[in-house]
Amino acid sequence: MDTVPLYHVWEYTDVDRAFWQEHLEDWMPEEVFDAHTHVNEPRFCTEEITEEMRRQYWVSEVGEPIGAADAARCDKLVFPDRKVSKIVFGHPSLSYDIEGSNRALQEECVARGWYRLAVTLPQWTVEEVAAELDQPGVLGTKVYYALISHDPNSRDKHIEASIFEFLPRHQLELLDSRGSMVILHVPKADRLGHPDNIREIKEIRRDYPNIMLVIAHLGRSYTLPHAQEALPQLADDEGLLFDNSAVMNPDVHRYALETLGPERILYGTDNPIFYMRGRRQWKGRSYINRTSYPFYFNKERESQEIEAGYTLYMYEALLALKNACDDLKLTREQVEGILCGNARLVVRRVQG
Ligand SMILES: [Zn+2]
Repeated sequence: MDTVPLYHVWEYTDVDRAFWQEHLEDWMPEEVFDAHTHVNEPRFCTEEITEEMRRQYWVSEVGEPIGAADAARCDKLVFPDRKVSKIVFGHPSLSYDIEGSNRALQEECVARGWYRLAVTLPQWTVEEVAAELDQPGVLGTKVYYALISHDPNSRDKHIEASIFEFLPRHQLELLDSRGSMVILHVPKADRLGHPDNIREIKEIRRDYPNIMLVIAHLGRSYTLPHAQEALPQLADDEGLLFDNSAVMNPDVHRYALETLGPERILYGTDNPIFYMRGRRQWKGRSYINRTSYPFYFNKERESQEIEAGYTLYMYEALLALKNACDDLKLTREQVEGILCGNARLVVRRVQG
């Protein structure tokens, strides 16, 4: 079979087909629900990434925007013969025309049957956010600390912000009154376990209990120590949900499933970033991304033999999840919940 272009510098190859056949074909349900994926027409990008950004953060090199038509084409390649449902949102970055990309994505979502979260700025009024929530198929908002104010040279100017600085109370009140969904990428270099995050999330859950709050990337728990520091502190709150997008570590998946239970975890890809090819390795509280493209961040390349065996990050993440589910002997129903049913339930409750 042929190697076909996927997205950005990545292709879909026989290695990927074989990986899917060996590990995923029999395991993935007929319908897959990707609850965390970025779709953004490239024309809405208003500035090129700077050299400083490139050096600072690996995602800036791999985070090329993907338009709706390309995203749909890639779904067919990476999830062969599956029905794919999605919750999509643009790039939460002030390097994009946020209003324009929300508007264009809304049309695509209606045409394609996708659900959308509006990317919202903290400065927006209740009326401005409500205008987004009023549109068909919009489940809620995607908020992010990089939207507090613009810095072309850093994604992390506001990383130590309070959650309320980018998800302000006037918006929380509106979202609560509508029973909307919010996907929250937590701030702080210390990730979810930072005491301010834990306190603020508990406060949001107490004061705005009707919001379907989803903590993105298991709270940015990409390593086991980060998961262990954070997840037990939120384990009691059964109504608090998480997405497992961008998590590749099988120990983290297993720990999250054990600590939170499979009903509270939604599958997500974080694509287009996870079309990257390679693997991730972990040491304590840090990790290294291995990949086969000569990005600036990719200084320590592995041997050609090893690189030739690389598959997509999203496939490695799925295998890690599968291994965790197998270890814990989850039922088929629980597995299908993570990969589809839990997100379906959220949609039903939000659209209630
Ligand atoms: Zn994301």
